[in-house]
Amino acid sequence: MAKKITVLGAGPGGYVAAIRAAQLGAEVTIIERENVGGTCLNWGCIPSKVMKTTAELLDKFHRSSEFGITVRDGATPNMKALMRRKQTIIQDQIKAIFTLLEHHKIQYLHGVGRLEGPHLCVVKLIDGSTVELPSDGLILASGSEPLELSAFPFDGKHILSSNDALELVEIPDTLLIVGGGVIGCEFAFIFSALGSRVTLVEGLSRLLPLPSVDEGCSKVIQREMKKRKRYVEFGDMEDMIKVNKDLPKKLQLKYFKDLKIKQIILSIVGAKRKIEFMVNKMAEKVERIDERLHVTLGPSQFMARPSKKDLKPLTLEAAKILVCIGRQASTAGMGLEKIGVKVDNAGWIAADEHMETGVPRVYAVGDVLGPSKVMLAHVATREGLIAAANLMGSRERMDYAVVPNVIFTTPEVANVGLTAAQAKEQDISVRSDRVLFRNLGKPHVLGEIAGETKIIS
Ligand code: FAD
Repeated sequence: MAKKITVLGAGPGGYVAAIRAAQLGAEVTIIERENVGGTCLNWGCIPSKVMKTTAELLDKFHRSSEFGITVRDGATPNMKALMRRKQTIIQDQIKAIFTLLEHHKIQYLHGVGRLEGPHLCVVKLIDGSTVELPSDGLILASGSEPLELSAFPFDGKHILSSNDALELVEIPDTLLIVGGGVIGCEFAFIFSALGSRVTLVEGLSRLLPLPSVDEGCSKVIQREMKKRKRYVEFGDMEDMIKVNKDLPKKLQLKYFKDLKIKQIILSIVGAKRKIEFMVNKMAEKVERIDERLHVTLGPSQFMARPSKKDLKPLTLEAAKILVCIGRQASTAGMGLEKIGVKVDNAGWIAADEHMETGVPRVYAVGDVLGPSKVMLAHVATREGLIAAANLMGSRERMDYAVVPNVIFTTPEVANVGLTAAQAKEQDISVRSDRVLFRNLGKPHVLGEIAGETKIIS
């Protein structure tokens, strides 16, 4: 049983582990180089859901007449106000975490932690001073960060990471998203609702190509992307001309002389503007010409037999590119090699179901374990609880088979347990039952009929 525990990283894995260890009687120190709450609170779950909430409200506003509401002056996003709201929510949550740490008498060190031995961490505090921190138990919870594509290096201005996308104060007119996984698809719906023309490029043969996502869900999301209406903010003549093509015949802008009337038509009717997506394609290179980005797409290396058409390179133009191809472990310079903690080829830490790394009394939790475990905030939290309990003498284990999972697209995708395909791979015979939302009353009341519930038994 450990008495003095150090937790490296104060995300949802680390700070919950610290609290549980303190509750169980340990003297705990937690080290954080940026902000408590980690990716989830500062660069992930919370800010992206703040943006999604505004995006969906905006979508609803544009459909107000359907719900019997007359809105006189259209609705447009105010990105500065949105970013202020996001920041206020984050700051409130940060304060709440500090209150919890104080309440449990956890020592907080704001700085970068580096391991000198399995039970010695050296912390470079933000004031430049250094603290040596001996302990008899260590929990590694340093999380993950956006992965860069070498041909598309992040510059925060034109080529964005998910962190940058959560800080935008202006909505790009066109946005090319590279990567049709969870984060890419969530952002596609958010930015489309906020007013961008969005194109999504995915190397595999479907969007949300995760084994845990039923193929039927990918189909629903792809269909909803095609069906989406995008509502434009005008004043921009060029945009109006392009949008005009999508309007119903009677409302074609050529029949109206007054610019204001044209604008009103667009604000009420909205323009049918789907989210474009391309599968089996790879973004290969980018060229910047007069502030516009010209991206060359090639065939995906994952395609077994590409056709002639597939092989033909394609060029797309965009104002900004958002690269969402995955995450990498935040372990650089942490000194894992000094303490003998094993990492796989991609740099993810290896830990067993007890969260043990193989080095005595060194545990690891959360995103730093990589995608072979599940990279979600509540998973990190559960793993943190287990690591803390085990360091304090218990023998708890993590069960990844029962992790609930939500993807915040529109509609959202939620699942727990095996998909039919996964069951088949494991030679389990199953039956699938499905209820379409459109056959039920409440989805019609809400005006949200896309989607279905599927039960695999
Ligand atoms: P992190 O949250 O990454 O925290 C690790 C902390 O360690 C960081 O604060 C980092 O600064 C710190 N650190 C790293 N190295 C050091 C060091 N050497 N010294 C000191 N400190 C260090 N999950 C969900 O469940 N639901 C969602 O809706 C959701 N949405 C997401 C949206 C986006 C855009 C992204 C990117 C992620 C989202 N996630 C979501 C995933 C979720 O954010 C992560 O699974 C979760 O944050 C992992 O927690 P963690 O504690 O393992 O790591």
